[in-house]
Amino acid sequence: MTVCIAGAGIGGLTAALSLHQVGIDVQIYEAVKEIRPLGVGINLLPQAVRELDDLGLLPALERAGIATGRLCYFSKHGREIWCEPRGRAAGYSWPQISIHRGLLQSLLLHGVKDRIGAEQIVTGTAMRRWSAAPNGVIVEFRDRTEDEEFDFPLDFSCFVAADGIHSQGRKRLFPGEGPPLWNGSILWRGVTRAKPFLDGATMAQIGHSRQKFVTYPIIACDDGTQIINWVAELKFETSREWNREDWNREGRLEDFLPAFADWRFDWLDVPGLIEAADSVFEYPMVDRNPLPHWTHGAMTLLGDAAHPMYPIGSNGASQAILDARVLAREMAWSGETADALSAYEKERRPATAAIVEANRKNGPDEVLDIVADRAPNGFNDLSDVISTEELEEVASRYKALAGFSIEAINAAPPIVPDSVKA
Ligand SMILES: Cc1cc2nc3c(=O)[nH]c(=O)nc-3n(C[C@H](O)[C@H](O)[C@H](O)COP(=O)(O)OP(=O)(O)OC[C@H]3O[C@@H](n4cnc5c(N)ncnc54)[C@H](O)[C@@H]3O)c2cc1C
Repeated sequence: MTVCIAGAGIGGLTAALSLHQVGIDVQIYEAVKEIRPLGVGINLLPQAVRELDDLGLLPALERAGIATGRLCYFSKHGREIWCEPRGRAAGYSWPQISIHRGLLQSLLLHGVKDRIGAEQIVTGTAMRRWSAAPNGVIVEFRDRTEDEEFDFPLDFSCFVAADGIHSQGRKRLFPGEGPPLWNGSILWRGVTRAKPFLDGATMAQIGHSRQKFVTYPIIACDDGTQIINWVAELKFETSREWNREDWNREGRLEDFLPAFADWRFDWLDVPGLIEAADSVFEYPMVDRNPLPHWTHGAMTLLGDAAHPMYPIGSNGASQAILDARVLAREMAWSGETADALSAYEKERRPATAAIVEANRKNGPDEVLDIVADRAPNGFNDLSDVISTEELEEVASRYKALAGFSIEAINAAPPIVPDSVKA
């Protein structure tokens, strides 16, 4: 029998590669007609990079992205608050990688086509609904490749809905859930080719939770410039009208650039970076409440379909990758069965729910608000505002929740043991 995966995003493609690695047949159905390298930058934490390494993708990842060496927090006046090493610089055995989401998706897609076969990905075909069957799941699709659309059902041993934040798979499990929940922040995102800032490998978080600018390089260019990813964030009342979340919605400079007009520091020209971007995308900061269950018999959820979270703390793509690996291991151990899906959910649901909750409390960025509240007009000496001990405590609290422990990650055996690989 074959496992059906709906959605060829980061989670769905990693799940396909992982299931193939343990000898399980998969078929992927993707709603869009053509998979184009969309999106801007995302980050992969060392524990997720490790899993892609186990799939043989580390060299390609390192070529496509930039290893993040430091995460630094700055006040809205551009003054440094806290810097910490990341990835290999912090002692992990794997790097943290900043990468263009579209490049990452292309890299996974090529992996699937090479190893599993291009015919195992069916594009232009949206999953519409699913229902339990005696020996698995019946999944219904809508073919959108021709002018006239038509629906058709297929039988599978198991069904994995990896269809993102607007998941149809999830909707069928929880029909009354409604739209994603907005916290009042709007993110404007873009990429700009520019000279490197600081050491060329720093992720910078500037400002506070009501007005923030996050930036990091994602591609090194031959002429010494870099493609620099940035996110400008402003907070509004949640009663305000807002656009439905769509990763590809164009944003307007006049909606946010004026707020950042005087953020010109000796190490970074924020308005200059924004103005030089080719295009800007707008996205509301949304997530969904953690669910009481993801699995129904031989069907389960994965990635953003299961646990959409605020895009802070570098966890969106990383957690989808970890889901995919645990799912493959459980299926290798227990076969294409409901038991395997339950065991996968048992491990991943509480772990990801804790990150959804931690991100709502502002995740690791809490330190920016503490400093902004205590010293709204800036500071001469940071130690008058916050002690080193307090800074360290805030940073380690999030890492413990999000499973960042260096020793634990380095020492842990790979999620998918060699003994089950085909
Ligand atoms: C176009 C796009 C751009 C993005 N850009 C960014 C970004 O710049 N920065 C960032 O942090 N995150 C971005 N994300 C989200 C990020 O990829 C996810 O948060 C994370 O990687 C988890 O991946 P996922 O596979 O669960 O979901 P996604 O990566 O969202 O993938 C879901 C996939 O399912 C497909 N799909 C949806 N409905 C159906 C259906 N009914 N049937 C079949 N397929 C379906 C979608 O087309 C998509 O390919 C983007 C997502 C998308 C879809």
